Parts: sequence; structure tokens; C-alpha cells
Amino acid sequence: MSLTIRKIVVLGLTGMIFLMANILVVANWLSEKGVADKASWLREEFLTGTAIAVVLVLLILLVNPKSTTGKAVGFIRRCPVCDHRLLGKGSYCSECGSKV
Ligand SMILES: [Zn+2]
Repeated sequence: MSLTIRKIVVLGLTGMIFLMANILVVANWLSEKGVADKASWLREEFLTGTAIAVVLVLLILLVNPKSTTGKAVGFIRRCPVCDHRLLGKGSYCSECGSKV
């Protein structure tokens, strides 16, 4: 679980709590904008059971930590020996000294 994912989770939770606190206002606003009709149309058109299953499987596969160990994923690199996070562009690990 990287720092970016944690930030996203915290932001999502904050947004959820904010929405829960103002659920009536949000519900009225959504029905005024006609979002409910569009949402039901979207659900009927795209969100079949198969699509939901495929999305869930993709999410599970994407967050599998073993597939990202030791590789350059985005801007976060990890030492293949000691799993220490590497800073900068050096080709040697600052923790154990092994070549990356
Ligand atoms: Zn290392």
C-alpha cells in the first residue's frame, strides 16, 4: 500500500463522511439535476453482472503487491534485495548497498 493509495483512501473517506452528513441536500440536488434517470440508464446499459465481475477481478489483480516488487512502477522504485524504497536515480541501494 503506497502513500498515494493511502492519500486517495483518506480523501475518499472524507468525501464519504461529508456526503453522509449532507445526504438529504445531495439527494435533492441529484434528483433536481436528473442524475437518477441517467444512473439507472447507465446501470441497465453497462453494469451487467459480467462487467462487475470483470472490474472486481481487474482491481484485485492491479493491487497485487507481488507483481510490482523490484520494478520501476511509476516513480516509486524498491530494492529487489531488501525492499527498501529507493530515492533518486542512483543504481545502488542506500540500505544494503546492492546494485539495483
Ligand atoms: Zn537494498
